Amino acid sequence: AKAKGKACYQMFDSTMHHRALTNLQLEIDLRKALERNEFVVYYQPIISLMTNQIVGFEALVRWLHPQEGLIPPIKFIPIAEETGLIMAIDLCVMRQACLQLRNWQKEGLADKSLTISVNLSVKHFVSFNLLQQIDTILAETGLDGQNLKLEITESDIMKNPEFASQIIVQLKNQQIQFIVDDFGTGYSSLSYLHRLPIDTLKIDRSFIMRIGNKGENIGIIQAIMALANSLGMNAIAEGVETLEQLEPIKRLNCQFCQGFLFSRPLEAEAVRKVLATGL
Ligand code: C2E
Ligand code: CA
Ligand code: CA
Ligand code: CA
Repeated sequence: AKAKGKACYQMFDSTMHHRALTNLQLEIDLRKALERNEFVVYYQPIISLMTNQIVGFEALVRWLHPQEGLIPPIKFIPIAEETGLIMAIDLCVMRQACLQLRNWQKEGLADKSLTISVNLSVKHFVSFNLLQQIDTILAETGLDGQNLKLEITESDIMKNPEFASQIIVQLKNQQIQFIVDDFGTGYSSLSYLHRLPIDTLKIDRSFIMRIGNKGENIGIIQAIMALANSLGMNAIAEGVETLEQLEPIKRLNCQFCQGFLFSRPLEAEAVRKVLATGL
């Protein structure tokens, strides 16, 4: 019994140890990456379905690793969230994105209404001076609060709705707009939703993906559009890849759209071209 106990212990220990090691290594690497400014921002156009014009961009982080090359967010955001490093990464992305849009404005490439949307993992900001940090970034970069939008996932909001409400209300006073990301997947409490000064609901890609698949999910998109309309919010359809998906979205009067059909996320240099000559 003693030997068996030991074997079990060892088995448990070696797998746990392996996981802990790689996560710890990743955490160390992420800290270094922050110091060395290895996070780069890609920009995906957001299109108005009324005018077919680009109205803004979503800032999406990538890690330009010196050995591994470009690493997508799915590979490091979960660990960044677990370790709390996400706060620094989000602010780093926000700083870069605000500075970039300000430069495009100065170069005459972006008109005054063009916005940049930045993702925030908000459940980690509970004891953190987010408002002050955002103020500082806007002051340092010279960007107007009106040009910045913050994307928070529906599930993050619902994890701490009281706190999320507070920051949304306070940032709204500085003209900053809010997008509820991945909407339809986070079990929103409607009593919160209608009290929050939210600008836009972003319809989760999973619903867009299923369009055409017997048409079953148009019902959900229709319901989200009805909700957005009755709450006085706009809607963005995310992850639109085909004309077949675009058609019902347009028919339901969804205002905005984002997806590979229009453009993949682009490097800053490529955005400059798109702003100068169109998609
Ligand atoms: P998200 O916020 O839902 O971002 C949209 C994701 O969908 C992006 O993936 C984008 O490239 C992808 N996408 C856009 N259009 C299409 C399409 O037509 N088809 C398909 N298949 N995909 C499309 P990405 O850049 O890999 O980002 C993945 C997730 O990582 C984001 O999902 C977001 O949750 C997180 N993330 C990215 N950047 C940041 C950041 O700066 N901070 C935080 N906290 N999270 C971030
Ligand atoms: Ca997003
Ligand atoms: Ca999303
Ligand atoms: Ca998502």
